[in-house]
Amino acid sequence: MASITFQTRALLEAIEEPALLVGDQRITAANRSAHELLGAGIEGSDIRLAIRHPDALEHILAGNPGKIVMVGLGGAERPWELSIRPLADGLQLLRLIDRSAARAAERMRVDFVANASHELRTPLATIIGYAETLSEPGEIDADTRTRFGSTIHTEARRMLRIVEDLMSLSRIEADRFVAPLDRVSLQEIARIAAENGRSLAEARGCRIMVEAEADLAPIAGDFGQLLQLTDNLVANAIRYGCGASACDVTILAQRDGDSASLTVRDTGEGIAPDHLPRLTERFYRIDAARSRDAGGTGLGLAIVKHVLLRHGGHLDVQSEIGRGSTFSAVLPVERVVAQSDEVAAAA
Ligand code: ADP
Repeated sequence: MASITFQTRALLEAIEEPALLVGDQRITAANRSAHELLGAGIEGSDIRLAIRHPDALEHILAGNPGKIVMVGLGGAERPWELSIRPLADGLQLLRLIDRSAARAAERMRVDFVANASHELRTPLATIIGYAETLSEPGEIDADTRTRFGSTIHTEARRMLRIVEDLMSLSRIEADRFVAPLDRVSLQEIARIAAENGRSLAEARGCRIMVEAEADLAPIAGDFGQLLQLTDNLVANAIRYGCGASACDVTILAQRDGDSASLTVRDTGEGIAPDHLPRLTERFYRIDAARSRDAGGTGLGLAIVKHVLLRHGGHLDVQSEIGRGSTFSAVLPVERVVAQSDEVAAAA
């Protein structure tokens, strides 16, 4: 078996993914990741024993460079891309690139399109059904006409809310790597969000209160997105936090060391622990009919999550059944402010 130099081995180890040098059908050298994936004793063994994929072997044995997609190494369904590159002296460099994350992202995208289509299709089917009945010849009494018209209106408004939230989400995602630069007062966000939620709160017999630290310094953020985030949390607190008995919703704006937070607390029914990790998934709802009746789209907390991703923050949820929920949007003050100052100085 051809020996390899110290530098070649160092180079191979510097490659993060599993990498092999192959010559005369044998594995001349393998880096640590390749040993972890294919087994500790693979150096010196026949390549046909380490990689059993027929397509891949055909390329390797014929000395053809290329990229081959294969599954089955290190897990039955795990997808890999095998890259084959010729080197000098009949050696080949093989790299195994893990495609699991790309595959998962693709699956999420496909699921998302299917879910969004389903969410839009349901109200659309209702609208078509009622509109067809209204447009058929024949007498329809005034009450029925009003009822059908009002259902069409309700369902069309639901579709509009879903489309608006989908557009919001895609705008926020498009700005993911654009640093937000407004100087945002969290007290002002809390105050406006309380005002925005006032009529819904009154209709549910619930009170909204604001508790904001007086000397809270502004943070660098996107004003519109942070307000949308707080509006969504307040709307949820009223919808799901205010049940049969009147309850209180409190919006807090606070600073804690290097972070600031916008918190919305309700004294409602609370959320069971097994739902908590999934709340920010698009279209995830604990009770779909209740969310729909309350005017929800299932996208409110997904929007919250993406606004926080853009701001380098995170969502903290505490909830206890029967006692209520607390949703905190935690924002890193120093990092965000420093970034905006740097950009302003460079401009
Ligand atoms: P929706 O449009 O359905 O409100 P969200 O993404 O905003 O969608 O919220 C997802 C789900 O999380 C809601 O359907 C509801 O079941 C639950 N939820 C959100 N906020 C609260 C809350 N404050 N109290 C209880 N449940 C909540």
